[in-house]
Amino acid sequence: MFHPSRYLILPPQFYAQNSPMKLENTKLFVFNERLAQELNLDENIPWDRVLAGQDLPHKSLSLVYAGHQFGHFVPQLGDGRAHLLGEIENPQGELFDLQLKGSGRTPYSRQGDGQSPLAPALREFLISEAMAFLDIPTTRSLSVVKTNQRVLRQTDQEGAIVSRLAKAHIRVGSFEYFAAREDKESLKILTEMTRKRLYPEAQDWLEMYELIVSKQASLIAHWMSVGFIHGVMNTDNMSLAGETIDFGPCAFMDEYRANEVFSSIDRYGRYSYMNQPKIAHWNLSVLAGCLAPLASPDQLNHLQDILDSWEQKFNQAYLDIYAPKLGIEDVKNLDKSMIDNWLIYLEEHRLDFTLAHRNLAKLLKQQDLDYFPKTESFELWLKRWRSKLNEEFRPQQIVELEMNTSNPTVIPRNHLVEKALRLAEDGDLNYFNNLWSALKTPYQIDQSAQAEEFSRPPLEHQKIQATFCGT
Ligand code: AMP
Ligand code: MG
Repeated sequence: MFHPSRYLILPPQFYAQNSPMKLENTKLFVFNERLAQELNLDENIPWDRVLAGQDLPHKSLSLVYAGHQFGHFVPQLGDGRAHLLGEIENPQGELFDLQLKGSGRTPYSRQGDGQSPLAPALREFLISEAMAFLDIPTTRSLSVVKTNQRVLRQTDQEGAIVSRLAKAHIRVGSFEYFAAREDKESLKILTEMTRKRLYPEAQDWLEMYELIVSKQASLIAHWMSVGFIHGVMNTDNMSLAGETIDFGPCAFMDEYRANEVFSSIDRYGRYSYMNQPKIAHWNLSVLAGCLAPLASPDQLNHLQDILDSWEQKFNQAYLDIYAPKLGIEDVKNLDKSMIDNWLIYLEEHRLDFTLAHRNLAKLLKQQDLDYFPKTESFELWLKRWRSKLNEEFRPQQIVELEMNTSNPTVIPRNHLVEKALRLAEDGDLNYFNNLWSALKTPYQIDQSAQAEEFSRPPLEHQKIQATFCGT
């Protein structure tokens, strides 16, 4: 079922009602059939038109928000090229915002043209799909539509609209917008709407804040566990639903490097791999600052305590996610130094993050593997690892199975994604579709020859050094 957006019942200061640009001869370029089936999309709606922003059944709107971009406060941002079309209800009764991105100018466009080139739209589609099949909370995408418009960036490119499904489009920046204006009434409305919509189990906003912190801790731990670097963790790109949102210059690393950065605009490494937990904490402190005006002195202390629990929450989430990756059943048997030392070893020898984790399981059956350079410290590490496993008395096959279903073998490696996008720009979607298909079973390599290619790290000349927002 497709319902009108619930944001429409908010007071007018929250959004601008406006329509996507009028377009002719659009083309549904990529469609997520499987997701459409899961959502049980209403067959009476002409989705190919709706996903192009035409013939909309409900009023559409763009939301306002503010945000800290690379640490600098911008008092007004908002959906500058996005339109919310309504809410899709799946057969389980869950509701998802349906939003188009690249669908034209809005009152929040500032200098922008409201459009998106094809490649970043496809990139968002592909990487959000990969995240979903890795079981990492994320927005989803139903489609990429070619707009039949030219979009001028560094070069002249084809325009596209990507559709996005999210539990909600409420960002830390949504709160900052009203906090900066000292508009307490609107803050209260936004807080209550967020609680009802995303955290109905919370009795009050403080309980909600604690749940937000926990969700975010788990999300970042998930990212870290697969080598994902978001690249633009501005406060306007952090969702209160704890979903990965806004796929710009994001990338999965190949060789492990703690300070890895891909985004061409992240010159100082603010959003590097290792900084992600710290930045999430920082963003959550901004959110706490926005909520503070609602607090009594007692509640203020409590708010601070919750914010201060970040490190403990994140470390616990990280250990919980890492234990099965190392084949350890009881997380109490895993201390963080074990992960740290493993990662130091990977970095020292420039090992591929994904392949190294995957290959570790092979050391259950054999003493050593050519893949792993022999060093004294690694021998010691292995000894410690084996003794932990021995202490748990689990059959080897069980441990192996657990490791192989916790360490993916197919991830959207940068060079593969770039190749898929370049070919798609030339009108050939074959490679894109094959990669998309392989990403649906990240823990196994299927029979096709290409799937094997998709699990291999890049050769030296295939490595991509920088990623671009491309917006
Ligand atoms: P992002 O970097 O995608 O998170 O975008 C940051 C802000 O810039 C958001 O308010 C976007 O809506 C806006 N924006 C990005 N690209 C465009 C564009 N081409 N036209 C209008 N607004 C844009
Ligand atoms: Mg954004």
